[in-house]
Amino acid sequence: MHNHVTASASEPWDTIIIGGGVAGLSAALMLGRARRRVLVIDAGQPRNRFASHMHAVLGHEGIDPAELLRIGRADASAIGVEFMDASVTRVDDSGEPDPGDLTVTTDDGTSYAARTLIVATGITDRLPDIPGLAERWGTSVLHCPYCHGWEVRDRRLGVLATSPMALHQVQLLRQWSNDVVLFAGLVPTLDAPTRTRLGARGIRIVDQAVVEVLGSGNTLTGVRLEDGTVVEIDAIFTGGAPEPHDRMLEAWSGRVNATLEAIARDLEPGRALDLGCGEGGDAIWLAENGWHATGVDLSPTAIDRARTAATARGLTARTTFVVSDLSTYTDTDTGTDPDAKTDDYDLVTASFLQSPVHLPREQILRAATELVALHGRLLIVGHAAPPAWAPPEHMRAVVFPTPEGDLAALHLDPTRWQTLVCEVRERAATAPDGSQAVLLDSVVLVQRTS
Ligand SMILES: Cc1cc2nc3c(=O)[nH]c(=O)nc-3n(C[C@H](O)[C@H](O)[C@H](O)COP(=O)(O)OP(=O)(O)OC[C@H]3O[C@@H](n4cnc5c(N)ncnc54)[C@H](O)[C@@H]3O)c2cc1C
Repeated sequence: MHNHVTASASEPWDTIIIGGGVAGLSAALMLGRARRRVLVIDAGQPRNRFASHMHAVLGHEGIDPAELLRIGRADASAIGVEFMDASVTRVDDSGEPDPGDLTVTTDDGTSYAARTLIVATGITDRLPDIPGLAERWGTSVLHCPYCHGWEVRDRRLGVLATSPMALHQVQLLRQWSNDVVLFAGLVPTLDAPTRTRLGARGIRIVDQAVVEVLGSGNTLTGVRLEDGTVVEIDAIFTGGAPEPHDRMLEAWSGRVNATLEAIARDLEPGRALDLGCGEGGDAIWLAENGWHATGVDLSPTAIDRARTAATARGLTARTTFVVSDLSTYTDTDTGTDPDAKTDDYDLVTASFLQSPVHLPREQILRAATELVALHGRLLIVGHAAPPAWAPPEHMRAVVFPTPEGDLAALHLDPTRWQTLVCEVRERAATAPDGSQAVLLDSVVLVQRTS
């Protein structure tokens, strides 16, 4: 166990590596040799921990995976890399102590600052829920013929298809045995050309679902099918659904947009609607400042995070989050009584509605005017220019609005609307390299007067 870090904890690490498997240790060795201050934080659950031997690792054929990691740690420790046995639960781009720095928090609540981060946390293989399968993962239930094919060469081999990739896997496996059977019950029915192709290579196909993997201990003797038939085999190859270990990166990105904050701060709180609310940063700020805020976004994941953030802040009564396509959104989408449709938002905001994929922005903004109450305001904020660090090739498809263009697109009746702001504003920002930068925002604020 390494639960004591010797280097000064107050000074940021050059690099924190999350994950001390073979990937993290390789990075640690290289960076340590480059005289960087490196901390590896590892939860000690490498993907291949179910296997007792590793194969095809040069110089270490047949090594215990845990032993390989022990050697890797020893090599890196010898050149000053430090280790912490813990699980990282959160990563924040806190900018502390210096702009651009990151803060990494572990499950015991300790935080570490770093200038850079390497995430080498690996994956979990989610296997189909079939009795007898997961228990033999890494011994007689396998995934990679290059890692384990030699050990089961010329035996009776099965491939349990969990995705169309299995068609590739089963053909590969023919290199290791003449006796290969594909269990295709979990994937859509195979078409005739595929059956012909597999048949031509001597691969048998079983269409029934596998309901149980049979054997004693780690040894596998066969599988039972839906109708009770037993097919005798010695090993199964399958592909679990890969689940990346990246939850710690799912930081809530909800920071209020500075222009909205500057404008709404001086308004009497009322009902607010945020179109394209993302993870709810603006709506939650509005709710914290006395508004009843509704946020609408196309992304269920973003809305889910917004709701979670609102709940954590005790703001459920003041916030409503709705998953909806903005191009078809109406106020009735909130799921309340359709007859209770209101058009009385005191503030409707639409910030950074820009996308390289088609987005009927002007249509959405025009429809937004219909949702503004008498004396209410519509605020439109957009990126007026790309940030200085954006690669030009990524920006080609992005349209940058002008305030005059957005205002014109609203087709406002001048007898009913007053323009309060129509300008490009500068906003201070931190570039990815930690340097200070200026961004340009297009800002339009109009008020309904009658
Ligand atoms: C059953 C099986 C057998 C295999 N056999 C072989 C073989 O014989 N030969 C071969 O070359 N390859 C083999 N592999 C593939 C090999 O396991 C992977 O290629 C390798 O483990 C990938 O290394 P990694 O460092 O990316 O991830 P991992 O080895 O999975 O290491 C990731 C590390 O990050 C840690 N971690 C995850 N989340 C956090 C967090 N939030 N905070 C801190 N730490 C975290 C994990 O606990 C783990 O220690 C096998 C895989 C399986 C499933």
